[in-house]
Amino acid sequence: MVDPKDIDFYSLGFRYLETKTMFVSDYKNGKWDDGNSIPFGNFEISPAACVLNYGQGIFEGMKALRAKTGEIVLFRPEENGKRFNMSARRMVMPEYDVDKFLEAIKKVVKANEEYIPPYDSGGALYIRPLMIGNGPIVGVAPAEEFKFIVFTVPVGPYFPEGFNGIHLEISKKYTRAAPGGTGSAKTCCNYAGTMLPAKETKAKGFAQILYLDAINMEYIEEVGTANFFGLINGKIATPRKTGTILEGITRDAILELCSKKLGIEVEERDISYKELFEESCTETFCTGTAAVITPISSVFLEGKKRVFNNGEPGELTTKLYELLNSIQRLEIEDEFGWIVKIS
Ligand SMILES: *Cc1c(COP(=O)(O)O)cnc(C)c1O
Repeated sequence: MVDPKDIDFYSLGFRYLETKTMFVSDYKNGKWDDGNSIPFGNFEISPAACVLNYGQGIFEGMKALRAKTGEIVLFRPEENGKRFNMSARRMVMPEYDVDKFLEAIKKVVKANEEYIPPYDSGGALYIRPLMIGNGPIVGVAPAEEFKFIVFTVPVGPYFPEGFNGIHLEISKKYTRAAPGGTGSAKTCCNYAGTMLPAKETKAKGFAQILYLDAINMEYIEEVGTANFFGLINGKIATPRKTGTILEGITRDAILELCSKKLGIEVEERDISYKELFEESCTETFCTGTAAVITPISSVFLEGKKRVFNNGEPGELTTKLYELLNSIQRLEIEDEFGWIVKIS
């Protein structure tokens, strides 16, 4: 554990740092125990644990922020609780009551309050809830015992050098998820398989891969850990939910902000990668809890490159980034009721 007094919150990057307290609850004989906040630390697990052998594990990603008002706030945390249970059902794991999920999150954040970066640093306390099938198993079948854990990591601002775009490679070699698979569940199994594609594309100088659908290798899915958006013919378009993309909470917030606040038409539809190479597509960005919005400067496929807006973040992209960030830090009114305060 790092003493919070020794952390320079103004130069915090994205490296892993231990905090003081974690929350752990165990599921045995068909029910969850009450759970406990305990000092952060290792725990024992059987080599025959289902999660180690067959990957029965799910997680969530959230942030606690220090708002402008000095309060500690969460962004739509009940949506994470609901999605956690959707993932649990897909992976034959027990659900965790959403109210208890929220209570556990609040407890851990409160216990690690000294690790929340100050408002003016732009950082956050990243929150990682996870559930693993830790019961031993030999044949391929769900575990009978599970562990729910919540831990936290203080992180710096995502764009310490200013709001900058990333370069993406569209892949016709790799896919992330197929129809009928687990693409819409936040299960650990979906991520190990994306590490090789990410490694290869990074070696070529790209930040990440833009995945296409597994059947046609034509329609955009997402960016591995973030959802995709394009401003096409003046409308904001994002891939529709077909069970192969992770249904992001930031994605949902962007659709609401565009349609209800900015009066921009939104479309959830199939988007061919070919549309990104046409002039009618003027801005692209991706969304997720960590960065909120990341502008996409260019996309590349088979020797062809499309640069958006001379590589600069687009006007709408920037506006949405500022809008959502200022709602999240209570710099402006939370008119959608998205913010939950921790007292
Ligand atoms: C978590 C995640 C996202 C983003 O979801 P948010 O709820 O906005 O953080 C997008 N794609 C994948 C694959 C993810 O795991």
